[in-house]
Amino acid sequence: MRSTMMDTPLSIATLVRHAERVHGDAIVTTATETGSRKATFRECSKRASKLAHALRGLGVTSDQRVGTFMWNNQEHFEAYMAVPAMGAVLHTLNIRLPPAEVVFIANAAEDLVVLVDASLLPLFASILPGCTTVEHVIVVGKGDTTALAATGKTIHDYDALVAAASDAPFDYPVVDERDACAIAFTSGTTGSPKGVAYSHRSAMLHSMQLCLGDATGVGSRDRVLAVVPMFHVCAWGLPWACMLVGADLVLPDRFLQPDGIARIITSEKPTFAGAVPTIWTGLLQFVDKNPIDLKSFRMVLVGGSACPPSLMKAFEERHGMHIVHAWGMTETSPLGSVAVARDGLDPEEAWKLRISQGRLSPFVEAKLVGPDGKEIAWDGATSGELLVRGPWVTASYYPENDLEKFSDGWLRTGDVGTLTKDGYLTLTDRAKDVIKSGGEWISSVALENHLMGHETLLEACVVGVPDDKWGERPLACVVAKPGKDVSFAELRAFLADKIAKWQLPERWAIIASVPKTSVGKFDKKVLRADYAAGKLDVTTVD
Ligand code: ADP
Repeated sequence: MRSTMMDTPLSIATLVRHAERVHGDAIVTTATETGSRKATFRECSKRASKLAHALRGLGVTSDQRVGTFMWNNQEHFEAYMAVPAMGAVLHTLNIRLPPAEVVFIANAAEDLVVLVDASLLPLFASILPGCTTVEHVIVVGKGDTTALAATGKTIHDYDALVAAASDAPFDYPVVDERDACAIAFTSGTTGSPKGVAYSHRSAMLHSMQLCLGDATGVGSRDRVLAVVPMFHVCAWGLPWACMLVGADLVLPDRFLQPDGIARIITSEKPTFAGAVPTIWTGLLQFVDKNPIDLKSFRMVLVGGSACPPSLMKAFEERHGMHIVHAWGMTETSPLGSVAVARDGLDPEEAWKLRISQGRLSPFVEAKLVGPDGKEIAWDGATSGELLVRGPWVTASYYPENDLEKFSDGWLRTGDVGTLTKDGYLTLTDRAKDVIKSGGEWISSVALENHLMGHETLLEACVVGVPDDKWGERPLACVVAKPGKDVSFAELRAFLADKIAKWQLPERWAIIASVPKTSVGKFDKKVLRADYAAGKLDVTTVD
């Protein structure tokens, strides 16, 4: 029997209309040099309509890609509304990638127009000459555009373009919900960037699940601080989630240093935030020294790489701020699991679940597969590679597919871990980072999490290095807290009662900081290469 239900598409145009009419009074706040600026969703939606008219005037029709090279700010939010709503594809370029990689990605996506923040003009000037498909650049804010103009592309001023555009509401087309609304590229932690094209349907379903009670529970009473960049995985879908429920959105622009984040927390009193662990590691040091009230937060979502349990504890015990751990990938839109403990557990059991990567989200189906390709039981102990599928999981890559990443309709995540019988995921490593010692796996993440709980350490990154006897052994690279002396013997003793003896690293090195990827994750490729090139001062302790 066919259903009798209407077939209205899940589309961003519908969401934009909803945000304007129903949640028009919700507010977007953007941090500025001296304070902040504010606009309502209604105002942003009206400007988005004018932006859509302006883009149409530049030749943007449906299916064309509009790039953004921007921080998290109001104009970026307007692009999140306008570009997909007019049926075109929003392409958020990662401003932290090396210029050559941005050029590669802009050309791969065939961007026709790029919106650029004025503060990023010097950087963009080194990128634009290589962008073969870009015809127009729209500059947000005031800056020197001489270098851009020299490329022969047409340069526009965002405010002037929007001001000159028609006031008539843009007639957003009815789209096929399976068409692309946005494209993002993986940050390339483990290879060259691959494009993932989100559909209207996947983006809307993902945003709705983000708001579920056991996910973020974001609702109209929230003020959502999106520290997670709008240039990476659509800021975890938070801008669209805020439009769904009418939550205020707080955007830090380029003020991402701990003092900048602390300033916006103090002035805007956000109730919710999302960011990768490194942001919070930096903020913790700052707020330990400078008393900043973090009690406005009811919850802070942390993911993108493993959140050290010691960081969660420190914020909770010293600042009353509650961190919820989550897992996801560019390929999964990103949210795939959230670590909310089920009810009725004693504190120790609940804590174990809270520091896991989380419980699988509805519609995200998972399985674990061993090296022999056989499925592994969800027993909370046996680990294997995680495969997932679901309506917001990508089925291929753009522009070139990578068939090795898929198996019978499942995405091979490249993450290795365990699942409990009720769907809590614990990751031990990425497949490429797993340390294979004498045929057994050592979890670098577990070692790092323990080490980062030591009072002398700010950060710890563990990589596998070649070993004549065992094949591979762990090398622990540690960063000291300012003013603290590090003793490797003491660190080994500290680990000794937490992990099996054969997993204890015997190779140790002090480093000034852990190399990070463009989105703030530990860059293990760099450390392995530094070790191979003899650049690390390694001490052996056993
Ligand atoms: P890239 O793959 O280029 O790093 P992504 O941002 O898509 O870009 O990264 C996804 C990966 O990040 C996951 O496959 C996983 O390895 C890691 N990751 C994400 N969240 C977590 C988490 N909570 N704990 C451990 N690893 C995580």
